[in-house]
Parts: sequence; structure tokens; C-alpha cells
Amino acid sequence: MNKTVLVTGSTSGIGLVIASQFAKEGYQVMFHGLEANGNEIANEVGERYNVKVAFSSSNLLRSEDVEGLIEETISIFGYLHVLVNNAGIQYVSPIEDFPNSKYKNIIAINMNAVFYASKAVWSQMKRQQFGRIINISSVHGLRASEFKSAYVAAKHGVIGMTKVLALEGAPYNITCNAICPGYVKTPLVESQIDDQAKVHKMTKEDVIEKVMLKKQAVKQFVSVEAIAEMAILLAKDTSTTITGTSFALDGGWSAQ
Ligand code: NAD
Repeated sequence: MNKTVLVTGSTSGIGLVIASQFAKEGYQVMFHGLEANGNEIANEVGERYNVKVAFSSSNLLRSEDVEGLIEETISIFGYLHVLVNNAGIQYVSPIEDFPNSKYKNIIAINMNAVFYASKAVWSQMKRQQFGRIINISSVHGLRASEFKSAYVAAKHGVIGMTKVLALEGAPYNITCNAICPGYVKTPLVESQIDDQAKVHKMTKEDVIEKVMLKKQAVKQFVSVEAIAEMAILLAKDTSTTITGTSFALDGGWSAQ
């Protein structure tokens, strides 16, 4: 039987590469995201690797819609073996100007949706005696940077939740781990380059060199492929004892 994976936020950036890699490995894939061409993206990947796919554009801001996404996935595929909580947003601002609405949305999408999705999938994974929950946190789940109060709080929160779910999932072969990338060049980061340039009053080139990659020992953006390969490893049958851990793929940032 082909296993089923749901990757939230998989019609863009890191999620799209993770979902495509799972499809390549023969998984059935539930795509998800707000991109208008999500259905086309899902079908194209499904045809390329000859696997069953579906797509949902449910909005992760609302707990009912997160629960609906899990229910829809299980009703289409019959199972849900791997949940990759990947969707996320960013906003960069000094705290005194940080809009409350942006703070609420970052906490809702980057952290609360991880709770609601994991909670909603739990009974299915218990029945299956198999579950793999993979949370895409960030190096900002391990380290702070100025002007990112909401994002850093949410990503640290996800790492705490990862540890708790690992403990609760242990009797049922449900594992839960976090992947913590440094900077990856995706649409989320492209827009940050603009925002940071404004905040730091710098050119975009200087932001990349002097702000973003400053803290990484390896002066390269982290490859999306490396993140996808790590997710595939964590999802394997043989990864039962890899749980409750955060994997930093951050070019040596958190080694310091
Ligand atoms: P991206 O902007 O390319 O993709 C984000 C995805 O989330 C999109 O599909 C978008 O539609 C979806 N999404 C956003 N808001 C949503 C909502 N309300 N409801 C449903 N879906 C929503 O971003 P990315 O860079 O690929 O980031 C993916 C994850 O990786 C995020 O959690 C991000 O925090 C994390 N991350 C990114 C980097 C980086 O440098 N790009 C580094 C570390 C961690």
C-alpha cells in the first residue's frame, strides 16, 4: 500500500519540494496552500510520478478549517501516515510598531495550526499504529533575531510542542520531530529581503550578506532538497526511535 502524506503550504517554496519528493518516493500526496494554481501544481506532480494526489486551499487561520483539512485528507485517501506542518508566514518589525493583527496571524498559522492539525490526525494515527508528524520550525525556533518577535515565539513554541507529541505518541509508533532550516531562498524569504532592507536601511545585497547569512558559518542559502531528504528519512518505518528532536539544517548557525 502506498502511504499518504499531507504537506501544508505545499503549493509554494519548501513545502512544494517536500511534497514532490514524497510523490517521487511513491507516496499519495494531499497538497495544500493558498496559491490560486494549487490544483494544477498538484496534478502536475501527480502525473509526473504517477501517484494519487488531491488539493485543498483551506485557510489555516481557523481551527475548523485545519480540522476540515485533516478530515478531507482521510476521507479521500482512507489513511494519513505522514503530516508535514510546513505552512508559515513571516513579518519583520520592531516590537513597538508590530501590528497586533500580524502577531495574531503568525501565531495562528505557524504555531496554533500545528496543534489543531496534530490533534485532529491523532486518533487516525493511533488506529494505524503508525504516524509521522514533521514540523518545519526554523533556526528561529532555536535562536532569536531582532524584529521577529512573533515568528521566533511561534517557532520556539513548535519545538516545545514537538517534544510533547513525541512523548505522547511513543506508545503508538507516532513520532514527532522538527526540522530547523537556516535561510532558504523561497518567496517567503524574497519578501523578507525587501522588509529587512527597509528596517535596516540597507540595499538588498547587503541584507543577504550582512544580515541573513551573517550568522551561518556556511555562506549559502540552505537547499530545499536537503530539507525534503530529511523529511523523507523521518517518515520511514525504520525511524521509530527518532523522535522529539530538532534537526538544524542551518549552515552551522546554531553551532555557535
Ligand atoms: P512560502 O511563502 O514559499 O510558502 C508558504 C506556504 O504556506 C504557501 O503555500 C502558502 O499558501 C501557505 N500559507 C500561508 N498562509 C496560509 C494560510 N493562512 N492558510 C493556508 N496556507 C497558508 O514559504 P517557505 O519559505 O516555503 O516556508 C515554509 C515553511 O518553512 C514556513 O513554516 C517557514 O517559516 C519555514 N522556514 C522557512 C525558511 C526560509 O528561509 N524560507 C527558513 C526556516 C523556516
